[in-house]
Amino acid sequence: SIPIAFLGGIASAARQGIVIKGANYLEDLSKADTFVFDKTGTLTEGEFSVQEIYAEQGTEEELLKIAAHVESYSNHPIAQSLLNAYDGEIDKDLVSNIKQIPGYGLSGDYDGKRIHVGNFRLMEKYDIEVDEFDSTGTVVYVSVGTEYMGAIIIEDAIKYRAKWTMKYLKDKCKAVLVMLTGDTRSAGYAVAKELKMDYAYTDLMPSDKLEQLEDFLTIQDDMEKLVCVGDGVNDAPVLARADIGIAMGALGSALAIEAADIILLEDELPKIVDAIKISKETLRVVN
Ligand code: ADP
Ligand code: MG
Repeated sequence: SIPIAFLGGIASAARQGIVIKGANYLEDLSKADTFVFDKTGTLTEGEFSVQEIYAEQGTEEELLKIAAHVESYSNHPIAQSLLNAYDGEIDKDLVSNIKQIPGYGLSGDYDGKRIHVGNFRLMEKYDIEVDEFDSTGTVVYVSVGTEYMGAIIIEDAIKYRAKWTMKYLKDKCKAVLVMLTGDTRSAGYAVAKELKMDYAYTDLMPSDKLEQLEDFLTIQDDMEKLVCVGDGVNDAPVLARADIGIAMGALGSALAIEAADIILLEDELPKIVDAIKISKETLRVVN
């Protein structure tokens, strides 16, 4: 049977928008000392804004127009940012033969030409020679056929009170803080450095995140409890692997919510601290 204090803890968490799927997670959370975070949409807003456009061929307007048209078939946060930045109308009929590659970007036929829109890895995949940018922003490369057309630099903002949350975990839980991201080294490290995280693993394919986590765990021999926090479909395997998987935001991916043990209804990082406080208080009452 479950001690009454646990039910009280779960109920009080629920009132604060924290859904806990079982009493054992509340207990484990009080011992959490290793926290693994996804970057985009978890530590950052996941709402990118266009900072700069470099057109190698044609004009900046054309480059953005073509990229936005192809991205109109994607629901990635990057796609939304390019569509927001593009002023004109989107004519979806101008684009056909869309091929999305998770962790890379996507391709489509536009005006009779094959267009690739995505990261450096995507360009490498199609043997397209580009000027590689070293930016703390996320670089979206665009090519027409195998010819480099230009790049769009977009920037994502670190979430409100992310810094405060990381500091709390470090100071009060003596936690080790880890980031796993599909984004580049320069973009990932910029966020990890700002948040004073201990480890950052970047350039991960969606399918590589779990393997990287297992690798990391081999060096964490005296770990008590592992918490993983994410929002996307890509994060589901990692959330399932954790002692406590936390899904951010009720509007996050259904798969992440399913795989998680705790769901934060509001997309707010300090809710993790609230959950820890409730778990410690509950354990104090029980013991
Ligand atoms: P994260 O792990 O940070 O949440 P994802 O796995 O969703 O990131 O994406 C990894 C990388 O793949 C992105 O940083 C981006 O470079 C590229 N990418 C994915 N989807 C798109 C897209 N629709 N347009 C352009 N680039 C994309
Ligand atoms: Mg994400």
